[in-house]
Amino acid sequence: HGRLWVVATPIGNLDDFSPRAQETLKKVDVIAAEDTRHSGPLLARFGIGTRLVALHEHNERDEAERLVQRMREGVDVALISDAGTPLISDPGFRLVRAARAAGLTVSVVPGPCAAVAALSVAGLPSDRFVFEGFLPAKSGARRERLSTLADEPRTLVFYESSHRVRECLEDMVQAFGAERPAVLARELTKLFETVLDGTLADVVARVAADPNQERGEFVLIVAGRPEDEDARLAEGRRVFALLREELP
Ligand code: SAM
Repeated sequence: HGRLWVVATPIGNLDDFSPRAQETLKKVDVIAAEDTRHSGPLLARFGIGTRLVALHEHNERDEAERLVQRMREGVDVALISDAGTPLISDPGFRLVRAARAAGLTVSVVPGPCAAVAALSVAGLPSDRFVFEGFLPAKSGARRERLSTLADEPRTLVFYESSHRVRECLEDMVQAFGAERPAVLARELTKLFETVLDGTLADVVARVAADPNQERGEFVLIVAGRPEDEDARLAEGRRVFALLREELP
């Protein structure tokens, strides 16, 4: 049997293309890419001449079955997306599921992922976080989604594209309050990498003041809901009562 390799590619800086990722893409028989016109030049630049097939939202169901059949016949396949880690707000879930269901080995060549990269420089609690990916494009649905997240205590991670980042931040102020700590990570690993931090109100103000801050690709990270004051006071009273029993 052939094997499926899930391979991460850079999210901007091409020096983040790992040696193992390059070697894997050279040695497999076929690369399934989200957009062959996008990946072609990148692969050519690294001397990777492997045949490309398209695997995107619209053909994934059929193409996954076809690729699984080929792997059964001994063909090795690598899956890549336009940037970063496949399946993370990118196609590939159906292919991986189908390969696993067929009993094929699925191996990972891990690497860049914008969500993790942003979280690692945000300075917001990262012990527990929720990846929300892209919010709905329409404002009504977006506000509804945000309102369901208002009480979430874990750090929230969102993806956003340039034409909606400001609207999205403004909706977050409404849903989470102006004082919620937030980080806007823009163009990570690229020339104009910028990481803005502060309250949601601060971040909105800084984006509003500088149109350049609306350009590019973004990860938006918002702190979870703070433990509420009542719960903290109750916990304080509980600890105090325990101590009073123990102390002389
Ligand atoms: N699979 C990718 C990954 O591993 O991060 C994500 C693909 S998703 C279609 C594209 C989104 O990821 C962008 O709209 C943006 O939110 C985020 N993103 C990708 N590259 C980024 C970068 N260099 N800086 C900030 N965000 C980025």
